[in-house]
Amino acid sequence: MDNTLLLSAGFEPIRVISWKKAVTLVVLGKVEVLEAYQREVRSPSLTLKLPAVIKLQRYLKPIPRRVKFSRQNLFSRDNYTCQYCHRHYPAGQLTYDHIVPRSKGGKTSWTNVVTSCVRCNLKKGNKHLKSLNYKLLKEPREPRWLPQFSQILHGGNGHPAWRSYLAYAKA
Ligand SMILES: [Zn+2]
Repeated sequence: MDNTLLLSAGFEPIRVISWKKAVTLVVLGKVEVLEAYQREVRSPSLTLKLPAVIKLQRYLKPIPRRVKFSRQNLFSRDNYTCQYCHRHYPAGQLTYDHIVPRSKGGKTSWTNVVTSCVRCNLKKGNKHLKSLNYKLLKEPREPRWLPQFSQILHGGNGHPAWRSYLAYAKA
């Protein structure tokens, strides 16, 4: 509880850190506090509201991050929505589908695999999208956000203000 979301100077979420570490960064002048909890920490020399969102003062070169290809991360990327019929489903009723079928050389990759409901998946089979009149909800791309942030968004953990910063990262 009372963890802190650390953002880059460009407002990109980097990671969630403990409030103790966050306070250290504040004291060292390395970060700017954007949002704070009600709770305060006191020491002989300072009183500080626990930081909820902090932003690095200095611009650091972004670390290239790759999101591991997995069912869970794929469903997260597609918002648990079948990309063919555009309906929302619980994870148990979803599967994934190769846009270009594997039997036709399609790869298992972020750009060739989409979330699909079981029904659309069966209907599509090995056919091409065009012959079925299927329209993808959005162009499949490799996600830029970290899955841990997606879990925070779905799980409702952290400070309420995190949501807007994480949503920004997902766009
Ligand atoms: Zn569907």
